[in-house]
Amino acid sequence: MTVSCVLVRGAQGYAPEPLGYVDVLAVGEWVVAIGRGLTPPPWAKAEVIEAGERILCPGLVDLHVHLAGGGGEGGPRFRTPELTLTDLTRHGITTAVGVLGTDGTTRSVAELLAKARALADEGITTWIYTGAYSAATRTITGSLRDDVLLVDRVVGVGEIAVSDFRGSHPSERELARLAGEARVGGLLGGKAGVLHVHVGDGPAGLGPLFSMLEIADVPSDSVLPTHLNRRRALLEEAVRWAARGGPLDLTTGITEEDGPEAVSAAAAADWLRNQGVSLGQMTLSSDAGGSAPRFSPNGELEAVGVGSPASLWEVVWALRRQYRWPWEAALALATSNPAQRLRLPRVGRIAVGHQADWLLVDPESGRIEWVVARGRVVVRAGSPVVWGTFEKRGAGG
Ligand code: ZN
Repeated sequence: MTVSCVLVRGAQGYAPEPLGYVDVLAVGEWVVAIGRGLTPPPWAKAEVIEAGERILCPGLVDLHVHLAGGGGEGGPRFRTPELTLTDLTRHGITTAVGVLGTDGTTRSVAELLAKARALADEGITTWIYTGAYSAATRTITGSLRDDVLLVDRVVGVGEIAVSDFRGSHPSERELARLAGEARVGGLLGGKAGVLHVHVGDGPAGLGPLFSMLEIADVPSDSVLPTHLNRRRALLEEAVRWAARGGPLDLTTGITEEDGPEAVSAAAAADWLRNQGVSLGQMTLSSDAGGSAPRFSPNGELEAVGVGSPASLWEVVWALRRQYRWPWEAALALATSNPAQRLRLPRVGRIAVGHQADWLLVDPESGRIEWVVARGRVVVRAGSPVVWGTFEKRGAGG
């Protein structure tokens, strides 16, 4: 058996912290050296990439993706399709955490787990949440706690919907119970054990989560609400949630076109930062594969799109280019922060002993040109070179 090896030479590295101009060497799936003047070991089959002016950064960690599809609001023909390997890799996502969504009846956590395993076999890193929107939620083993403790890829419970007509309107006591199940499963299983909460358009906003903190001893940092940029008023509540020590997740698939109150994730992150929210409390996720309904001004369903995995990198790039964030800050929201929040081992950073999940990016255009996932080149000079089992080569864009 030949051992494969990838060497990137002379890149401007971001771990996401700045590394300066470096060479980075991976043998098999792992980073074994970071330094200057590195050479591949003579016994390995090596691919050497001359970085030129490109920057080298960690592969993106997307903590909220409908890997096995989602949606279905509007009827069965609006059930969104599964994502393929290159849907993710061509946009720089090398770690994805799967969620189920609204429909926990015709879709199941077991199906999501199988899909996550398939993508891992195909070459990226995957995890999942157990559960669906409803608080009387869906599991594999019959118990949320047992799922988190016993099922290898389950990192927590979610997405449980609050303030959304599609959810079950859980009481603060129910939310506390779900957070407890997630947390104890996590403690015993050595996982993050987070409760991941979908916050809908309803006027109650983050109210149910604040009420939960009043009645139960739930550590706020183990409850991760998402879609917080869907309304400006919700962002204001998010500042208060952060002041209580809670983490905030922004959805990159939400744009100003989603309604008069919607805020793009880049604008929202910049605004939160100016309000004094620490960067370590913020993450970005795409919500890719979920349905993105568009309503007419009088509230009628006009069309249903599908959230795109491209949005995650687009927002990192917007933070860098439009909002002038330093690379390390913009990158952290979609690499090291989500990895840390969900305690995903050995991803989200460029470091010796970590997985070789890398992007090489043109710093002028923001284009992702090379993607390495678990030590294998999956996108070369802008084009995917590794495809999912049933993907049509060259399809998509
Ligand atoms: Zn959601």
